[in-house]
Order: sequence, then structure tokens, then C-alpha cells
Amino acid sequence: METVAPYKEIIDVIKASGGDAFKRCFQCGLCDVVCPWNRVTTFSMRKLVREATFGLTDIESEEMWRCTTCGRCPQQCPRDVKQIESGVALRRIATEYGVFPPSVKPIRTISGSLVGEGNPLNEERKKRADWAAGLSVKTFTEGMEILYFPDCYCSYDSRLRKVARATADILNRAGVDFGILGALENCCGESIRKAGDEEVFKRLAKENIKTFIDHGVKKILVSSPHCYHTFKNEYPEFMVNFEVVHISQYLIQLINEGRLELTKEYGKKVTWHDPCYLGRHNGIYDEPREVLKRIPGLVLNEMAESRVDSLCCGGGGGRIWMETPKGERFCDLRIGQAIDCGAEVLVTACPYCITNFEDSRLTLGHGEVIEIKDITEIVGEVI
Ligand code: SF4
Ligand code: SF4
Repeated sequence: METVAPYKEIIDVIKASGGDAFKRCFQCGLCDVVCPWNRVTTFSMRKLVREATFGLTDIESEEMWRCTTCGRCPQQCPRDVKQIESGVALRRIATEYGVFPPSVKPIRTISGSLVGEGNPLNEERKKRADWAAGLSVKTFTEGMEILYFPDCYCSYDSRLRKVARATADILNRAGVDFGILGALENCCGESIRKAGDEEVFKRLAKENIKTFIDHGVKKILVSSPHCYHTFKNEYPEFMVNFEVVHISQYLIQLINEGRLELTKEYGKKVTWHDPCYLGRHNGIYDEPREVLKRIPGLVLNEMAESRVDSLCCGGGGGRIWMETPKGERFCDLRIGQAIDCGAEVLVTACPYCITNFEDSRLTLGHGEVIEIKDITEIVGEVI
């Protein structure tokens, strides 16, 4: 049976998403032209906006959960409809009603793990710092240069733990006075917020903010563009402002300051994938390219779509926790673009992108053709 959210609530959403944002839509369809979903199946943000304008949103529909919040369509919209904020606001209604299509149900389980253990992976909080076993990594104390905040995937996932370890190794070799907070950290909350669970987001954010303040944290280094975005742009909603640095920015800073020397050859052709939350959402395009260009022997090729036009991996907006059928995965298309530009290595700096690309590489049978690397893994090989 179709469940339609009450008209008044939809109108409240329209107001909350920027006054008349939905109503400004004149149905030009430019959003649908650039949306990556329309390369793999059919999806219409224009239609979602239209339905919301008339209070006719079907909150049980799969369509409400497709948007990866990649940021492509807001760049094109001539009427500033704020598609991402508006779409997330609709998801909040579904969350409050507890009504979800089957593909979204895993996210509800994830909310429990986030509240109980501070991570979406059903892992134990007390194991959060296990990635650092055997490395020289201290607990953060007030006065240290920087807090390193590895996200949930870099803390627990066996593939992504290599990224946290490479990062710690680089920081040590550059003589950076850094520490971690391990079991005291929570997920930043970015993805659960975009998936509509505002209550869980606020809880995670408030706990993290209290931990940072209690420990005298001023500057935070992150591996994930999702943590970067949230700490930098969303935590200020709670009246705090930490200095936030993404690893790609910090690497070029360390190189420019002479603290990090890239001495060894890396004789491969690589391409850089701009993660949506690093590039489009935060304008960080040049720093990672600059790091790669400084590596002796490395050849940097650009994919057909890069920088503002970068193709989303499909992992944003909570989609990393949802099953996307074969044939509908943007990451498969992106691997094809990387191979087409002659790259032997697809480099990026986002745990969701790496998770999706590693999966595509294997399921497409490209294991021998292309490698997937985080930027820290390459830098770690050449210092
Ligand atoms: S933000 Fe990206 S995924 Fe979402 S509707 Fe717009 S183009 Fe499609
Ligand atoms: S691009 Fe903007 S104005 Fe055009 S259909 Fe999409 S939301 Fe409406």
C-alpha cells in the first residue's frame, strides 16, 4: 500500500529546506541530465521535487533513497532548488514514521550500532584503536600539534586499516606530534544524517564535540572527506569551530615545509578520482594532484570526467550501506574511465570510494589491470 506523507509535513519540509526551494523548480530537467543514476537506470530528482511540491511524496518508495548527495545536480539547477537538503529532509520524515523500503532497512540496524558502539560496522568500541597495533601512535593530549581522526572504515575495515597505518607512518616520518583518541571517538555522523536519522547524528556529533573540547583538541586531521565535511561545515551548527585538515592538504603542506621528502621512483601511470565530498562539496581539487605530481616517475592522467565533473562512486548519502544491484553501480563505470585513460592505478582519498572501487575491480575481473590506492599508500612507498 502506498504511504503518502501528510501534506502539512511536506510543506514544513519545503520551508525547512530553504523557504520556497521546491516551489522554485520550473521542471527544466537539467538535474536529471547530469544525475549518474540515469546512466545505469532511470531516476528523476525533478519528479521527486514535483511530488514534494504538491505534498504527494511516497515515503515508501525506493526513489527517495537513491540520491547519493553527489552534488552534480545542484551545480546545474538554475533555480537553486537545493535538491540535497530537500531530499534529506524528506528522508527525515520517513525515518520519523519508521517506513522504509527493504533496501533501506539495513540503515536502521546501523543506527543501533552507531548509538551503541559509535560505528556503523557492528564492531566493538574498545577495538577502535586496534589498527595502530605495533605502530608508534600516542593517545592525544592537549598541546599536541594535531589529532588524527581515522574514520570508522579506516579503524575497522581490513582494507582501509592499511590507510590509517600508512598515514601514521607518514606522520611519524615527518616528525609530526600527533595523537589519536581511539575508543573515545564516534563516527562523525555524516552519512547517517544524509540517510535521514537526525537524532542519531546529533547524538554522535555532541559526544564527539565534548570529547574534543575535554581533550583540548584544536586541529583535526582526517582521512575521510565525509568527516572533513561534517567537522568543518556541520559541527559549527553546535557553536564550535575546529581547524580541520584533509590528509591530501596536509601532505602537500608537509612536502612544502620540507618535512616530507619524496625520494623514490613510482614508475606508474595513475589517475586521481575526486571524491564528491572532497571536490564538489569542498573545492579541494589541486592539493592531491600537486602531491602526485611531486612524486618522481609518476605519470598523472586525467579521466574523461574530473574535478567538478567527477563521477560519483555511489557511496554517499548512506548508499554505502545499501545494496546496489550489478549493472547499477557507478563505481563500475568509473573503473572503466580509469582504464580508458591509461591508468594502472586509480588513486583517491576516501574510504567509501576505495571500498566501492575495490569491489568493482574484483567483480569486473580487472584485478590484474588496475590497482586501487589511497594517496597515503603511494606516498608511503616513495618516502
Ligand atoms: S545529488 Fe547527485 S545523485 Fe543526487 S539527484 Fe543530484 S545528481 Fe543525482
Ligand atoms: S534543475 Fe532545478 S529547476 Fe530544473 S528540474 Fe531540476 S530542480 Fe527543477
